[in-house]
Amino acid sequence: MAYQLSEKLKNMVPYEPISGDYAIRLDANESFLPVDKEIKAEFIQKLSEIPFNRYPDPLAAEVCRKFADYYGISADYVTAGNGSDELISVIVGAFLSKGDKLLTVMPDFSMYGFYADLAGVTVLTQEKDKNLNIDVDAVIRTVKREKVNCVMFSNPCNPTGQGLPREAVRRLITSVDCLVVLDEAYMDFYTESLMGEVEQYDNLIILRTCSKALGLAAVRLGFAVANPTLTAVIRAAKSPYNVNSVTQAYGSVVLSHKEKEREALQEILASREELYTALVALQEKYQCFDRIYPTVTNFVLIETSHAKDWFEALKARSIVVRLMGSRLRITAGSSDENKAVLDALEELIQTSK
Ligand SMILES: *Cc1c(COP(=O)(O)O)cnc(C)c1O
Repeated sequence: MAYQLSEKLKNMVPYEPISGDYAIRLDANESFLPVDKEIKAEFIQKLSEIPFNRYPDPLAAEVCRKFADYYGISADYVTAGNGSDELISVIVGAFLSKGDKLLTVMPDFSMYGFYADLAGVTVLTQEKDKNLNIDVDAVIRTVKREKVNCVMFSNPCNPTGQGLPREAVRRLITSVDCLVVLDEAYMDFYTESLMGEVEQYDNLIILRTCSKALGLAAVRLGFAVANPTLTAVIRAAKSPYNVNSVTQAYGSVVLSHKEKEREALQEILASREELYTALVALQEKYQCFDRIYPTVTNFVLIETSHAKDWFEALKARSIVVRLMGSRLRITAGSSDENKAVLDALEELIQTSK
């Protein structure tokens, strides 16, 4: 007798983000801003008071309350996770069973299909339209035709940078009977959140992350927002001490500084605008891209037949962006970082002609 891995397990490979020492990282949509001095000092004080021999608060009550206050919602609807990534896995595990169907609308965040697949859930995919927008009517039709159990999508979308207006998302949620998981990871950069009305829907879970606009990628903190019935399930299904005390402390400090965070957000948006405008200027000068997609996020997606070559050439210059087939996704960085990637791209464009 010998233990054998199943075919599914044999084919698994670890998620491999670009690792190594690169001078400029524009590949993971993190905030480029350094930690604010006052926030850092407050956190260090709070850190020194953590009883490290004790388990963390299982419900992460303080940080959930701070999150709720920050966004003007009730903490009764909020569950914290070890990044929203963990919450995707918890939700898939709790709400879906083997053989159930999850619908994703591609291109979108790859983790939805990944966790569903791992749980034995059948992943159905539908393509976005030619502008990389979600065709809401087509999604509704597919849900009904295929008896889909859950639709999961990001709005605004990573990697497309496109945003769906509130009204279209409402129409989707109210037109289907299945669970809708709405990943608002980039909603700080846009204006169409449905968090304020989550209690009106019996089938909506919203995911938020502190890894992007709020600059907390290192400590892993995300939230699920849903009506009390769905929230009870998420809280029951998660592992008891999923968010560690250091993360709870740091998140609580950051979320107490609404004004500072608002300023940080404006800086990121200004950087995104600078990057987008400069890419459009390159396009006008050289007609070098097949497409630059408009964006409501902190990154810009461009399409070019040179994507792979330019990705490698940028990497050789110690600049990393994200390669996705014939597209490059570039995160807005500091002014210097934006300038570096734009200068390098211009050079590559000139030599590719
Ligand atoms: C980055 C990202 C996440 C993951 O956020 P974490 O809270 O860091 O796990 C989730 N969804 C989308 C669409 C993302 O781009």
